[in-house]
Amino acid sequence: AGVITFEQVSKRYPDGTLAVDGLSLEIPDGATTVLVGPSGCGKTTSLRMINRMIDPSHGRILIDGKDITSEPAPLLRRGIGYVIQNAGLFPNRTVLGNIATVPLLVGMSKRAARARASELLERVGLAPELGKRYPAQLSGGQQQRVGVARALAADPPILLMDEPFSAVDPVVRTELQDELLRLQHELGKTVVFVTHDIDEAVKLGDRLAIMAVGGRLAQFGTPAEVLEA
Ligand code: ADP
Ligand code: ADP
Repeated sequence: AGVITFEQVSKRYPDGTLAVDGLSLEIPDGATTVLVGPSGCGKTTSLRMINRMIDPSHGRILIDGKDITSEPAPLLRRGIGYVIQNAGLFPNRTVLGNIATVPLLVGMSKRAARARASELLERVGLAPELGKRYPAQLSGGQQQRVGVARALAADPPILLMDEPFSAVDPVVRTELQDELLRLQHELGKTVVFVTHDIDEAVKLGDRLAIMAVGGRLAQFGTPAEVLEA
């Protein structure tokens, strides 16, 4: 589950900027698709349209063949984890509190949510004692791991990642990329990953969607297909 289809999707912002122009794309399930291209080519806008933080001006988006506007946005978002640069953690909640946010929100008991959060902490490679810390007491790389754990907490079939590793130093970045590859292999989710870094795209992507200035899709295919073209 989790095939994402863009049908002739365009987005024009109120100031007239055409951020995405006639994007048609089928993102396969259970694999990582990387949206890659220079700054300003519409990657983030495309990603945010999947969880309806932004709605298209034209065209439509389907998940498993169903128009995403056919259910309320909060319900849609339960099936979609979202990870951003600098993790976006809640500063006043502990690490475990951050990870348990969604499970508690959907009615899981405190005890079960805590157990789930601890399990995820381990899964993203963090020591149990970090669970009691606040985000400001973690390194940048650790914060990103917590961000990934929080996004996985509801076990969503789809994971959206917007330049999640770009703010950490190169060594930690490589570690996080390797960790994501391992996790992805275990979990088999539909991951849509945004980056401007072609090396990162080739490393992580099962499919690459190369976007060009003006918000158009330039190429789509496996890394081998795209690099040969
Ligand atoms: P990318 O993620 O590839 O850097 P974005 O999707 O963030 O690209 O932006 C695509 C284009 O839309 C850019 O020209 C950007 O300046 C513009 N843009 C993004 N957000 C807004 C907004 N809220 N209002 C107007 N223009 C925007
Ligand atoms: P990184 O190179 O991953 O960014 P840092 O140098 O920021 O790492 O942090 C190294 C270690 O120090 C980490 O284990 C982190 O948990 C710990 N640490 C960083 N900042 C704080 C803090 N404010 N309070 C407690 N521990 C911290």
